[in-house]
Amino acid sequence: MITIYSTKSPKSEAMFRRASEVIPAGVSYGARGWEPYPFYVARASGSKVIDIDGNEYTDFWCVHLSAILGHCYPKVVEAVKKQAGMGLHYGLEHEQEIEHAELIRKHMSSMEMMRFTSSGTEANMYALRLARTYTKRTTVGKFEGNWHGGYDGLHYAIKPPLDKPPSGGLTPGVINDLLVLPYNDLEETRRKMRGKNLACMEIEPVMGAGGIVPADREFLRGLRELCDETGTLLIFDEVITGFRLGLGGAQSYYGVRPDLTVLGKIIGGGLPVGAVGGRRDVMEHMDHKKYRGEDYSFHGGTGSANALTIAAGHATIKVLESEPVYDHIDRLGNYMRSNLSGIFDRYKYNAQVTGVGSMLAIHFTREPIKDVNVLARENKEEAKRFFTHQLDRGNLILSPELPHTGLSYAHTEKEIERFVKESEEFVKSATS
Ligand code: PMP
Repeated sequence: MITIYSTKSPKSEAMFRRASEVIPAGVSYGARGWEPYPFYVARASGSKVIDIDGNEYTDFWCVHLSAILGHCYPKVVEAVKKQAGMGLHYGLEHEQEIEHAELIRKHMSSMEMMRFTSSGTEANMYALRLARTYTKRTTVGKFEGNWHGGYDGLHYAIKPPLDKPPSGGLTPGVINDLLVLPYNDLEETRRKMRGKNLACMEIEPVMGAGGIVPADREFLRGLRELCDETGTLLIFDEVITGFRLGLGGAQSYYGVRPDLTVLGKIIGGGLPVGAVGGRRDVMEHMDHKKYRGEDYSFHGGTGSANALTIAAGHATIKVLESEPVYDHIDRLGNYMRSNLSGIFDRYKYNAQVTGVGSMLAIHFTREPIKDVNVLARENKEEAKRFFTHQLDRGNLILSPELPHTGLSYAHTEKEIERFVKESEEFVKSATS
């Protein structure tokens, strides 16, 4: 099918064919491989990405929601350049990583100690190992629709159908070690947990890739109590919400203190990163001098705490501390949410907007949303048409079947207005 997109991106189409010879599906992450082919990026700056055909897009993809300041924020670039002149990565310890850990702890006091990794996936892997080491229990609770990365131990019950493995290669052992729990349903969670002796339960306080669905405050508070009653460690996956829902992340926003927290994205300033941190008595089990054998929980990694990531992440948090970033992105988020909702209502259109602060998702259904099960009943074909409509008009939003975003400091009101206007055009023609 000839679309505006395919007419304006012949070089990307050719690059896709070339890429597909050496990289499966022509992409390094399936999520980036939209139909009929993705564009390939030449450069990015602020809120814009420019593809190899010279097309400019307003970037609502935002480096998988990690670019809270937009692309190439001058203070971040400066910090990375300065660091690059002194060494890219030492593979050894350095003062900056300690400073960065101290800065994170200043804002998230539950993270009494932490370790850095190269990705959120990796941080989750180590978090689970640590929880199992500490509790000497095996089974892990994870919530329906929550995304924790590609690690086998948590790569299950992500999207409907929830009882089918979303990938090959997952052993029955890995799946049996999981207890899948219902999001935003405390009583059912309590019932399912009974007698299960969980090592930990891990939750996204705002479900991200599953559709930007915030947890109810009472639900999270209830989980804290359930964990205390049963000696289960409560782990918050704040890879998205950390430093996005304010400096204190979701734990501060909700007023619930987890035992462990997994971070990523923003704390690396857009470069590859992850971190696992939390209670000192738990984290100390990563100390190879203090604990041995079954009491010791290994963590490591060639790329851990690499100097470039730490420089970018530290500079980013300094900007978040000193400039009105949250005022800006939350205001734009509210504006976008209320305007899109207004349009959907006005046209009696079968869609709604979810989210909080700078995070939002568009769901092509009117059914009330409190968990991921609704995705099975959403109009995915309409979502894909919306995605393409926006792409044709120079707006890139993550992802075709479930458009969602995390806005950046670089976005302007005008850009949001344009996105809203294009959304109205789409809705108008879909309802006429
Ligand atoms: N947890 C959450 C909540 C995420 O959104 C992601 C990434 N989208 C991850 C973990 C995995 O992080 P990474 O992609 O860095 O491995």
